[in-house]
Amino acid sequence: MRAVVYDAPGAFSVREVPVPEPGPGEVRLAVEMAGMCGTDVHIDAGGFFSRYPLTPGHEIVGRVDALGDGVTSLARGEPVVADNTVLCGHCAPCRRGEPLFCANFYSLGVNGPGGFADCVVVRAEKCFAAGDLDLGTAVMAEPTACVVHGLDVLDLRPGADVLVFGAGPTGLVLAQLLAHGGAARVTVAAPTARKLDLARSYGTDVTVEIDRSDPARALPVLRAAAPDGYDVVVDATGAASVVEICLGLVRDGGTFFVYGMADEQLSVPLHPYEVFRRELTIKGSFAQTHCFERSLALLRSGRVRTDGLVTHEFALGDYGLALEATRSDRSCVKAAVVP
Ligand SMILES: [Zn+2]
Ligand SMILES: [Zn+2]
Repeated sequence: MRAVVYDAPGAFSVREVPVPEPGPGEVRLAVEMAGMCGTDVHIDAGGFFSRYPLTPGHEIVGRVDALGDGVTSLARGEPVVADNTVLCGHCAPCRRGEPLFCANFYSLGVNGPGGFADCVVVRAEKCFAAGDLDLGTAVMAEPTACVVHGLDVLDLRPGADVLVFGAGPTGLVLAQLLAHGGAARVTVAAPTARKLDLARSYGTDVTVEIDRSDPARALPVLRAAAPDGYDVVVDATGAASVVEICLGLVRDGGTFFVYGMADEQLSVPLHPYEVFRRELTIKGSFAQTHCFERSLALLRSGRVRTDGLVTHEFALGDYGLALEATRSDRSCVKAAVVP
């Protein structure tokens, strides 16, 4: 079969590799679509906790192609989405019920073989039926699951005034769930008009176009709309220039929610007195575990809309183009690879 294989950061090729055989409790999926997200750009640069050689692709939709010993819950040909997280179950965090911090966190497409390939092997219990969803919706199951976890962490108070920086696929799903989760007003600030149009079509109350190279220029507009600050300010960009202005937009007693993945080396100044005096809360949210069922319920009901999100589809051999579109094509909301 063919797979994208990285031998080192930035050094990939699409090549023939042996077809993986599912072990006991595992299944092999024939990949139908694998979504690309900002994390894949970080992985390309050697970030996150990538391990090489690596086949990336952690947003996986496929059909069951072969069953390992003991698998009775799935049948060949069944369309599923795969939860890419594999938790050890026996380390200290797993034993205290915090599997996201699993000391042996193993994630298909990050430090284990993922979905940018003709086939991928997944644990049977990590597969969720998705035959009723079109591919462009099913491929959002993983990012939406991450947003569901984010909402769990945020613990939003009903009636909150929320500002979200970033209108990538994640920001757009997050803005919808914040609205459904009880926010009185959701504002999305981002540099691309087309993505802001999508945000409005999904029900975002207010959109603000910001300058990619200087987001601080939008401060007067953002402050005028919430003179006392926002109850919650979310960064879904990971960009230093955005993170630096977030705390100043949070109202006294409010929350800055770090959702976007920043470069690991990035640091920004923090004024402890401000956090102390204004009783600010800073929360982070990373990936997810155990959120696929709720993600799929939201996608199924249409409560989270995904129409128009996958703007670019690429063949496996054009993986490099998918990466480039995600990195720098402003018309690209989400790229997906279709093996
Ligand atoms: Zn992702
Ligand atoms: Zn563990």
